[in-house]
Amino acid sequence: MSQRVAVIGAGVAATSVIHWLKILRPLDKIVQFSSENLAPAASLRSTAVAALRGTQRGISALGDELCEHWEFSDQFYAESRLPGVVAGELETWINDEKEMRRFSHLPEARESFLGPKQRPVKIVREKCWLIDPEVFLSSFDESHEHYRALVTELRPFAKGWLVKTQTGESEFEKVILCTGAWQRWMKRVVPSSELDTIKPSQGSYFEWSQQHTSDHSFALSFHGLNLHYRHDIKTLQLGATTIKNSDLLSPSLTHLEAIKKLFLSQVELELDFSKARIHTGIRSILQTRRPFAGQLDQGLCAMNGLYKNGWISAWPLAKKLCSTL
Ligand SMILES: Cc1cc2nc3c(=O)[nH]c(=O)nc-3n(C[C@H](O)[C@H](O)[C@H](O)COP(=O)(O)OP(=O)(O)OC[C@H]3O[C@@H](n4cnc5c(N)ncnc54)[C@H](O)[C@@H]3O)c2cc1C
Repeated sequence: MSQRVAVIGAGVAATSVIHWLKILRPLDKIVQFSSENLAPAASLRSTAVAALRGTQRGISALGDELCEHWEFSDQFYAESRLPGVVAGELETWINDEKEMRRFSHLPEARESFLGPKQRPVKIVREKCWLIDPEVFLSSFDESHEHYRALVTELRPFAKGWLVKTQTGESEFEKVILCTGAWQRWMKRVVPSSELDTIKPSQGSYFEWSQQHTSDHSFALSFHGLNLHYRHDIKTLQLGATTIKNSDLLSPSLTHLEAIKKLFLSQVELELDFSKARIHTGIRSILQTRRPFAGQLDQGLCAMNGLYKNGWISAWPLAKKLCSTL
């Protein structure tokens, strides 16, 4: 039976939910709501590399879940062949005992993508996917109604939910909230103990365009810092900061200065920081540190808490959620 489904959000969570709704529930009428100017999507301000970063099965429940999500998304990116996604390798420069244990299962690389100023104890590589969020997300089928308006109220009624925006209101049998860190604004209107513990985490990074750095795309990680190069669009990114409990859209220059200093002390690469653009996005993290995808109330579902793994976890979680609606 056909149902009216409202999806609130336009980041990777909402895009993956709509993708699977169209495949698994082709008769549903989908209406999307988002507000890029009032609730900017983290997905469009993300360095967006999907990689396990040394995580392996059998160590923690969170790690097992992430491995499962990675296997699904790795296949999804490989098979969907959508624009804005390229396969690459993530190289990690290992410097301490803790990292040695975390990455012990990965093969050692003889040479580095870039010259380290201080030789790391070990260099390892693993597969990754580098994503250009804007190109990738806009390549999905957009043949459904999409209102660029802030949802200000959700009200239950006999058969579902009334969704109110700044400009109008409409009734739906189902509502799926993919609202990232901005879900906190909806506390007032959504009865949701599952999402009450959401905290924002600010992330900022430097970006250089037209920066030819190498003949192939790569990701490099050292001392918790990431340098990502997308050869297809000649773009280099360095970051990102992690500032817990901050949903400010203006970056912390102190934290960015620390990143610059660390980079200059570690990597043999000339970069003109005066030419870098700075981007800031707000991640969302739940107290459990695990993502949530499920029902909050009759006819009301959510996917949130993707934190630093949105590009790995969104696709499998959205498929599971849509197959249980
Ligand atoms: C700097 C940075 C680097 C990152 N790097 C990586 C990485 O390398 N790999 C990785 O896997 N993850 C990374 N992440 C995390 C990843 O980007 C996020 O987990 C993911 O983008 C979250 O997606 P989302 O769809 O849940 O939320 P968002 O992308 O924030 O989307 C939320 C959407 O909800 C809409 N919305 C909210 N409230 C309302 C409302 N009331 N009415 C209408 N619309 C509303 C917003 O407009 C927005 O479209 C990074 C994040 C940041 C900030």
